[in-house]
Amino acid sequence: MDLTSKITRILRSLYKAYGRVPALKRSDPVDEIIRTVLSQNTSDKNSVPAFYALKRSFRSWERVLKADTGKIASVIKHAGLANIKAQRIKEVLAEIKRREGMISLARLEGMGLEESEGYLRSIKGIGPKTAACVLLFSFAKPVMPVDTHIFRVSKRLGLIDNDLTIEDAHKALTAMVPKGLIYRFHLGIIEHGRRTCKAARPSCEACVLYEMCGFKLKSFYRKNRRQ
Ligand code: SF4
Repeated sequence: MDLTSKITRILRSLYKAYGRVPALKRSDPVDEIIRTVLSQNTSDKNSVPAFYALKRSFRSWERVLKADTGKIASVIKHAGLANIKAQRIKEVLAEIKRREGMISLARLEGMGLEESEGYLRSIKGIGPKTAACVLLFSFAKPVMPVDTHIFRVSKRLGLIDNDLTIEDAHKALTAMVPKGLIYRFHLGIIEHGRRTCKAARPSCEACVLYEMCGFKLKSFYRKNRRQ
């Protein structure tokens, strides 16, 4: 089976298992950057409330930029590494303001994919995952953000090599997944990683992708099922 057919089959199976992924609702790109900074090294359960607390407390990114780093850190403390994240948020906002004259990335809408990715990656503190999240979720551009679930599940499914770095995985999956399916693949594989293909003990015995997966625990589970 070629890779495109395999990806199509994977997405069809995930749809049957978890239902339709929500339609893309484009987010503000600056919001998306701050949300991603807050999500580093923690779960959504901690980072999402921190993001809304930040929005509620300061009401605008201009105010966050002018605020004391310690005050920002205290508002986002539930996201962990609060001092480092507060500093990073201020630096990113300051750089956007320096380049654009205001805290807005609306100008990226008119840029090509490579140019907009290069622009974002040249801002200190914005790595490949953050840039890809902004491009996909704010501008609906065909780039694959690779988080820990996508990285793990894609390897187990044999879509990418085991020795690939996360940065290489981002490039490989962006090139491999048909453009119109990137958003669906991203959300579907994350859902699968959270619910079934967990890091420590994947539920292979209940997995809808079982027949397509070459992960070695498969034989372990198959043996156990026979017992
Ligand atoms: S069979 Fe197991 S390892 Fe493979 S995708 Fe399913 S849960 Fe993950």
